[in-house]
Amino acid sequence: MAEIIRQIPKFLILDDSKSLRQQLLKIEIAGRTSYQSEKGEVTLESATKFAKMLISRGHESVLEHTSISVKFLDNSIGMMRELNRHRIASVTEESTRYVDNSELKFIFPRYKEIEERINLTDGSGEISIEKMVNTMEIYYRSLRKAGWSPEEARSFLPLGLNSEEVFTANWREWRHVFELRTARAAHFEIRSTMVEVLNTFKEIIPGVFDDFERSGVDKNGYPYYEKRIK
Ligand SMILES: Cc1cc2nc3c(=O)[nH]c(=O)nc-3n(C[C@H](O)[C@H](O)[C@H](O)COP(=O)(O)OP(=O)(O)OC[C@H]3O[C@@H](n4cnc5c(N)ncnc54)[C@H](O)[C@@H]3O)c2cc1C
Repeated sequence: MAEIIRQIPKFLILDDSKSLRQQLLKIEIAGRTSYQSEKGEVTLESATKFAKMLISRGHESVLEHTSISVKFLDNSIGMMRELNRHRIASVTEESTRYVDNSELKFIFPRYKEIEERINLTDGSGEISIEKMVNTMEIYYRSLRKAGWSPEEARSFLPLGLNSEEVFTANWREWRHVFELRTARAAHFEIRSTMVEVLNTFKEIIPGVFDDFERSGVDKNGYPYYEKRIK
């Protein structure tokens, strides 16, 4: 039986707090090199203030001396496909060529009813979501049983198939990803996941993401964010 998972943001931060703190200090050291304003000890407090100042002046290239990796779990291939468009990032995604998907895990929009029944357009009646997903699984399994390899049978997998990936980027690029992917126009799945990642970053990397603020909620209850104008 195929598994239907209600989409919820699920991810792991792969960098520890000590390394993130060190990177924040590095921003102040690099920035002060530019202004030739080195003075005394660089602390978490001074670096946070310095990073905020750089961002308010639009001097964001200094943020490129950093990196943070996030492992995304139980998100759909559709979402990964959007994430993978961000070219400055490095990506390693679960392979549909080598990994067998006979146990189909299907990511389902969380505001939709799993019990909903859908009228088939060929006039043959109604079908449940469960039956639809199980049918997709049967097609894939049958192809595998007939000797098709995962990379051949994958043509029959849905965009809602569960996927995992590790996504690494510098903090400037993460700011860009948040600007596009937490905005109202972003797709609800990537938006709801990125809103959670953003809020986690705000806690673990002080000063660098504070200018992104919640600005509303869409009709399905998913919040969206905007960058505060400087
Ligand atoms: C709401 C929404 C709808 C979308 N709809 C579609 C769609 O229908 N079809 C579609 O194909 N895509 C779509 N996209 C994807 C979009 O076109 C971008 O590919 C994606 O958002 C990555 O953005 P980016 O290129 O700014 O960022 P990144 O690739 O993360 O790059 C970051 C920044 O680096 C710079 N940069 C990177 N590469 C280059 C380069 N080669 N030359 C010059 N500057 C560069 C740019 O300033 C860029 O903004 C959509 C995105 C959003 C947010």
